[in-house]
Amino acid sequence: MNTESQLQVFQIPVLQDNYIYILRDNNTQKTAVVDPALSEPVDLFLKEKNWKLDFIFNTHHHWDHTDGNLELKRKWHCRILGFAKDAYRIPGIDQQLQEGEECTFGTFPYRVLFFPGHTLGHIAYWFFEEKKLFIGDTLFAMGCGRLFEGSPQQMFTSLNKIKSFPPETEVFCAHEYTEKNGQFALSVDSQNQILKNRMKEVQASRKKNQATVPFFLSEELKTNPFLRASTLKEFTRLRKKRDIF
Ligand code: ZN
Ligand code: FE
Repeated sequence: MNTESQLQVFQIPVLQDNYIYILRDNNTQKTAVVDPALSEPVDLFLKEKNWKLDFIFNTHHHWDHTDGNLELKRKWHCRILGFAKDAYRIPGIDQQLQEGEECTFGTFPYRVLFFPGHTLGHIAYWFFEEKKLFIGDTLFAMGCGRLFEGSPQQMFTSLNKIKSFPPETEVFCAHEYTEKNGQFALSVDSQNQILKNRMKEVQASRKKNQATVPFFLSEELKTNPFLRASTLKEFTRLRKKRDIF
């Protein structure tokens, strides 16, 4: 009989619309945090649980994903993981990850995926056995990240890779942008009944101040205009339109 417990994920909403994720492996008592924008809410959470922090996983260098790094490291002596090529701008990095590298968090294996577009050094953490994807600012519910550093071609390629993941993949993105994204999606895909239905659910959830993240990739494949764009030209046009929406 398998008595091992599953990977636990906890979501902490911070700032305007950011999500910090706490990962816990009860088999080994290991705890990690994904993209700590701040240290205090993470400390508070750990204190309540009476856990200590072992790892920080960073998806990219932006301040709203890394500003908690140094304070958490000072307090917990945790290891900070990030993309090797972005090491120069990930505060306090200890372990430099390579594209495609396979690692473990406690008893859970994951793969490091390189998804340039939002930034040039953006990675995701893919817990392939659990089918949980920590995607940072690459894919959002019904949207995708802004192109701060990468080209449309890079983002389009990254999104196309995500399309081939199992539809039952649970996507943990770093922002609650769903409602605005959905409004944009409807403006370019107004006849999509699945999208209309999803938006109703999203609006109901937001009214109750409930998170719409994580979500399943299967929903995105049917409602996310950036995943549904079949050519680079179409993707580029959509992304430009979204920037001024
Ligand atoms: Zn970002
Ligand atoms: Fe962000």
